[in-house]
Amino acid sequence: MRLVLLGPPGAGKGTLAAFLHKELDIAHVSTGDILREEMKNNTPLGQEVKQYVESGGLVPDKVVIKLIENKFSGGIVKKGYMLDGFPRTEVQAKDLDAILQKLNVPIDCVVYLKASLPVVIKRLTGRRICRTCGAIFHMTNNPPKKDGICDVCGGATYQRPDDKEETIKTRMNVYLESTKPVVDYYEAQGKLKKLDADKDSRAVQEDLMKIFHDARYLHKH
Ligand SMILES: [Zn+2]
Repeated sequence: MRLVLLGPPGAGKGTLAAFLHKELDIAHVSTGDILREEMKNNTPLGQEVKQYVESGGLVPDKVVIKLIENKFSGGIVKKGYMLDGFPRTEVQAKDLDAILQKLNVPIDCVVYLKASLPVVIKRLTGRRICRTCGAIFHMTNNPPKKDGICDVCGGATYQRPDDKEETIKTRMNVYLESTKPVVDYYEAQGKLKKLDADKDSRAVQEDLMKIFHDARYLHKH
């Protein structure tokens, strides 16, 4: 299975990726993780990334594409992959297609998690994160035993500033607007599968496995 995961913040991409990794044994390739890893390992590309990040700028497409190419050439995607956080523009989608063709691992299917604003707001405003260990809680779905205290390490939990309602609305609009051409691009290729991500994570997982099964993707590679 070779997948691209698309969906606004709060649509449940992280949960779905963890499920698919376990279920299908495919690599989760997150561009955010790759960038952090390169900076941590202080590679030449990592140093370049660091300069962009520290100056508050965006990392240029050609650098991100190069990093993805390196990662995919390393053999980690033999059994398949799910790409998360990329592409964000149509140009990126085309560049990505070119590289994946060259490496002979083209995309089978693009999964788009479609979530509505009220649901996303409910999910994200309830989110609390531990300052010390980074554990994630949810005020209604998975509250810490003691309010404001992390179950794992006893640290203090907090709400990320961009998990507040007004910011979420803006993030959602920016996401939808910028992703529209990418969604259209994959739809035109006949690769797009839309999922109703307002449902709980279990139902979304079942819907997706049914799509994979019906499309006979699971036996393809
Ligand atoms: Zn903690």
